[in-house]
Order: sequence, then structure tokens, then C-alpha cells
Amino acid sequence: MQTITHWINGKYTRPGNDSRFGEVTNPATGKTTSRVALAPAATVNDAVAAAAAAFPAWRDTSIARRTQILFAFRELLNARKGELAAIITEEHGKVLADALGEVSRGQEVVEFACGIPHLLKGGYTENASTKVDVHSLRQPLGVTAVISPFNFPAMVPMWFFPVAIAAGNTVVIKPSEKDPSAANWMAELWQEAGLPDGVFNVVHGDKEAVDTLLDSPDVASVSFVGSTPIAKYVYQRGTAAGKRVQALGGAKNHMLVLPDADLDLAADAAVNAGYGAAGERCMAISAVVAVESIADELVAKIAERTRTLRVGDGTRGADMGPLVTRAHRDKVAGYIDAGEAAGATMVLDGRQVSPDAEGDGFFLGPTLFDHVTPDMSIYTDEIFGPVLAVVRVAGYDEAVSLINANPYGNGTAIFTNDGGAARRFENEIQVGMVGINVPIPVPMAYYSFGGWKNSLFGDTHAHGAEGVHFFTRGKVVTSRWLDPSHGGINLGFPTNA
Ligand code: NAD
Repeated sequence: MQTITHWINGKYTRPGNDSRFGEVTNPATGKTTSRVALAPAATVNDAVAAAAAAFPAWRDTSIARRTQILFAFRELLNARKGELAAIITEEHGKVLADALGEVSRGQEVVEFACGIPHLLKGGYTENASTKVDVHSLRQPLGVTAVISPFNFPAMVPMWFFPVAIAAGNTVVIKPSEKDPSAANWMAELWQEAGLPDGVFNVVHGDKEAVDTLLDSPDVASVSFVGSTPIAKYVYQRGTAAGKRVQALGGAKNHMLVLPDADLDLAADAAVNAGYGAAGERCMAISAVVAVESIADELVAKIAERTRTLRVGDGTRGADMGPLVTRAHRDKVAGYIDAGEAAGATMVLDGRQVSPDAEGDGFFLGPTLFDHVTPDMSIYTDEIFGPVLAVVRVAGYDEAVSLINANPYGNGTAIFTNDGGAARRFENEIQVGMVGINVPIPVPMAYYSFGGWKNSLFGDTHAHGAEGVHFFTRGKVVTSRWLDPSHGGINLGFPTNA
């Protein structure tokens, strides 16, 4: 069986160096496809040392040259994204078209980072004081760590590393041990694009690898994406060690449907956003908040569409693939049991499903619950599976109170034809990313991605201007070129005249 090893200083480590391994499966067949080495602290430290050694030369590489390498990476990625999508489908399970979409959204951040010459420009003030000039610059941090979740093995790392590298940092990435191969593929692509060895390193592993990165004095920053408890832990431990940390956590995304909405559009959106990637998206809609007067009609339209979804192996043209692991499939099925036991109305039960696949894959069909109340675990918990819960409300105010009371605040959407209601929603809702008649409002690369409340620890979102800010430190230089007439002793605080 193939062993997936770490990529340090431009080459793979030897499998013999590792003693702990994780299992990588193809979720569509249930078969184990490879094993992934789980790095001990010493291996993580080797990767950090390689990144630290590469940093001085990389930060001094001209912006023109750095940009050329980014463009080369973008061209290679664009030409060969099908290979990466196939890797994602094999290890994650999402259908091929969705995997391609993930790569394309990641590529947009690479394209954004190609504009780094403009993004890094500072300000300049001539004669801030008499014959004194002031300018500002932004400099890279050093070794930056990226720790990513299983659900977007290519896109989430690409939220961070293009900007980090373009700004002159070096990177150690610790991808999810459930689907580790995408990161190695991207490491090889960077080498082909001309990135010097040591600038981009990959270590595979679990808690031990993460803790080593969090504690390492040579790691300047941590960009984490994953579940809320781990995000909080990473934020606390990383900042206690003096690092800059952005830690994006879990989600429970609500979609509010007002009575004046186009219900066909809203039903399409609920199905796409609820069951796409089998609900394993941090921006998936998991709660549809329906105003009572249209709830029956909306639920009927969602159910009618959901019944047409084809579940199966993502390489066979299915709409929805399997869940990532057997354990996760069973956990999600447990939530369906709990929803039924709690008295929610089961409209569609995904526990019985006949997928188009060979073997014993980790499948669940799309599940739809109506009359869900906020005390039920299918509402309170992030299920991260193809389970859509419809909560009925009397009107707009009750819906907004419900959404704002939720501890998560990643994404939300409103469906309405009333511009005033949409504008009020945009203003009042306590959520970081808002869609108006758009169900999965993932910001473009030149805006920043991130939630509020328990969906993000730290104050900086990913990519866009905030990403550039995160991966650089500001410096302000005040200069006066010698003029003897300004000599003399003056112990007073400098003032400007
Ligand atoms: P996870 O929290 O289990 O794992 C994320 C990363 O943390 C992985 O690299 C994993 O190896 C590591 N990790 C796991 N347990 C750890 C521990 N005890 N100590 C240190 N590190 C640990 O998340 P996941 O299951 O891979 O991904 C799904 C979660 O990610 C969902 O909650 C989803 O909402 C969230 N997510 C959020 C966003 C966002 O933008 N907010 C985006 C994608 C995914």
C-alpha cells in the first residue's frame, strides 16, 4: 500500500522515518487506498527549520520574480486542475464537478495574489514636518503555518498560502489527515512553477503535529480552519505562544425565506446549499427558516426537488457523493435518529439509500426534517451532513432573533423580493457573510472570507485586504536627510512644524 509522506525542503521524506500512520479511504467504495504518515514533533521541527532557512532569501527575492512564480503556479494549476479534482474526489468523496469548483475558487486567490505588487504598496508623505518625509511599508512575518480541515483539501489551503508566499513568507502546511494528497500535489506544482525549495512545506499529522506548530518559537503565525472547539484551542494556545492567529471554526447557516420570495428559486437554493458536497461545507445551509404562511408550500417544493437527487460515486455523474468516513456517516445517521426521536417531522429519510457505487461506501441520502424546534440537537449542533432542518417562524423579527441567538455566525441568506427587508436583514444580522437571494455567499478572493462569533477566533478574515494584512507587519519610517541648520539639542517630544 502507498505511504503518503511529508514534503520538506523540496522533497518527500522517507517512509521509514515515521512510526505512526493514519488510514486514507475512498469514501465511495469504503476501501483503504493508502496510509498517511503522522509526523512526530521532530519531523514538524525539520519542516519549520527548512522554512526558516528559506525565508531570508525568499523575502529578499524581488517582487517581480515572486509574482512571476505565482503566475507560473496559476498557469499550471489552471491547465492541470482536473488532476487535483480527481484526487479530491478519491479521498474526500465530493462529486468531480464540485471538486473542480473547489479548485477554481482556490485558484481565484492565486490570481488575487498575483496582484501583490499593488497590494504591498505603502504610503508616502513628503514634508510631513519641515524637510521630514514619512513612508510606510509592509514586511513578511517569516514562517507561517496553515492547518486545514478535510472538507476543502485544496481551496482552504489556497485561502492562505498564495497570499503568504506572495508577501514573502515561507509556509508549513498541515492538511487534514483524512485527505492529505491534495497538499502534496500542490507542493510538487510549486516546485514546477519555480518556487525555491523550503518556501512551501507539507507535514501530515494530527494533534501532535498541530501542537508542535503552535508551540514552535520559529512559527510566526497560524491560519487554522476546522471545527469550533479546535479553532478555539488553536487560537488560545497559539496566541499564548505569542503568535498571530486566525482560527476559523464551525457553522450553522440559516436561510430565511420570506412570504414574498420566489419559492421556486428558494427551493432550488435550499437543495443546492443543503445537500451539495453532502452538506460537508462550512457555508452549507443546514437550517431553513420559513415564515409559517409559506412553509407548507416551500417544504413541498424542497422535497420534490430533493427526491430527484442521484446519490453515488462522485466519478459516475452523481449529484451527491458519500460522507468522508464511516465514523462520520454513522455520526450523521445518529443525528437523524435523534431528530426523529425528538419529534421533528421526517419528510425525507436518507438512512435508506441505494447509491450508484461499488463496494461499501459511506453513503447517506438527503434528509429533510420539518417542524424542527431550536431545542433539538438537529438544530443546535453542526451536523456537517446532508440533513436539512426547517424551522417555522411567525415572521421576520422572530427569524432574525433566532439567527442572532445562534452561537455560530459564518454565513446566512435571505430570500425575498422586498428590498427594504433585505436591507434591514443585511444591517441587523450578526453573521459575517450574508447572501441576498444567494444561498452560499462565499466572498470573491478580493474580499475577505470569515464568520463572526464562534465561527472565527481572532479578528482577521482570510484573503482579500485582510489576508494581506495578516501575512505582513507594518512599519513606518520617518526620515530627514542631513541639513546642518536643523542640528542642536532638544529634549522635547518631536512635534511637527
Ligand atoms: P477538525 O477541527 O476536526 O480538524 C481541522 C484540523 O485540525 C485538521 O488538520 C486536524 O488534523 C486538526 N485537529 C483535529 N483535532 C485536533 C486536536 N485535538 N488538536 C489539534 N489539532 C486537531 O475539522 P474537520 O472535521 O477536518 O473539518 C470540518 C470542520 O471545519 C467543520 O466544523 C466546518 O464547519 C469547519 N470549517 C470551517 C470553515 C470556515 O471557513 N469557518 C471552512 C471549512 C471547514
